[in-house]
Amino acid sequence: MDIIVLRPGVTDKEIRHVVKKLGNKGFKVQISKGTERTLIGVIGDTSKVTEEEISAFEVMSGVEKIHRIIKPFKLSSRDFQAKNTLIKVGKHTIGGKKIHVIAGPCAVENMTTLLKIAKEVKKSGATFIRGGAFKPRTSPYSFQGLGEKGLKILAKTREETGLPVVTELMDPRDIDVIMKYADVIQIGTRNMQNFRLLQEVGSHDKPILLKRGLSATIKELLMAAEYILSRGNNKVILCERGIRTFETATRNTLDLNAVPVLKKLTHLPVIVDPSHGVGKWDLVAPMAKASIAAGADGLMIEVHTNPEEALSDGEQSLKPAKFKTLMKELKAIAKVVGREI
Ligand code: PEP
Ligand code: MN
Repeated sequence: MDIIVLRPGVTDKEIRHVVKKLGNKGFKVQISKGTERTLIGVIGDTSKVTEEEISAFEVMSGVEKIHRIIKPFKLSSRDFQAKNTLIKVGKHTIGGKKIHVIAGPCAVENMTTLLKIAKEVKKSGATFIRGGAFKPRTSPYSFQGLGEKGLKILAKTREETGLPVVTELMDPRDIDVIMKYADVIQIGTRNMQNFRLLQEVGSHDKPILLKRGLSATIKELLMAAEYILSRGNNKVILCERGIRTFETATRNTLDLNAVPVLKKLTHLPVIVDPSHGVGKWDLVAPMAKASIAAGADGLMIEVHTNPEEALSDGEQSLKPAKFKTLMKELKAIAKVVGREI
């Protein structure tokens, strides 16, 4: 049931008008007249009422606001499914007791470097290798990634280390090629609202790592997830990776509020990417630790054997030794919150 809050001094005629419009849509009402406010309780299945229809009621005279009980995100909502979604990737399960750490360079650069990084992060306890073959760079003059060659390097690295591959898809035209190599498809921040891309990956059954848009609200992130879920792919992992705020001290502001908020609203696994969240390597560890303490189901961390020479995001990449220390600390925090790494 949704509730329509009416303005103080609303007239009977205005109330009748709202009630009539609801009646036309097949809803019954329950009117509650308080000393200051009159409320209309809408009885019936409002779950299919669109945002546009809600707006049409919101602009009616006498209406102050509409309080939705049924949330606009449906399939991702805990009302729809109370139990956590568990996503199987090979022998791993994301969203369960075990916290998964996805680590690797920002971009795949060459076979030797990726393999070296993968071996190091695996030794420290990472369970997935990451690396972009298609890179969404702010400047068209920056390194754009190796494309399919990069995907082949990722696949070869998986062969050598057993680590499943997480890599970004930017364009629906690359979907067939990425399907051949990736275990988890990442949809980056800049594409969180690329609805055609979301629908496309929703029609496949590979797990999707959906990163929160630079300026997206939590609700918008969940609505983006709905695009994938509503096409039949229920393997969606949400990722908080920092949002744009007025703060300039860090690359982005890592919104750790999003972790407990999302865990409350949705059954989907929630992971955090502190590397893009802070943008500076020495700030990554504290925020990674805070993420686990806040209840995240996993982490995505950029690691590079030679950050000074990295082709992208070197300034926020941890060296393997620092990553190793962090993993030890994370294990201890995970234990305190009833999880394991
Ligand atoms: C990345 O993971 O390398 C990346 C580009 O992330 P985001 O989309 O969060 O900026
Ligand atoms: Mn990066």
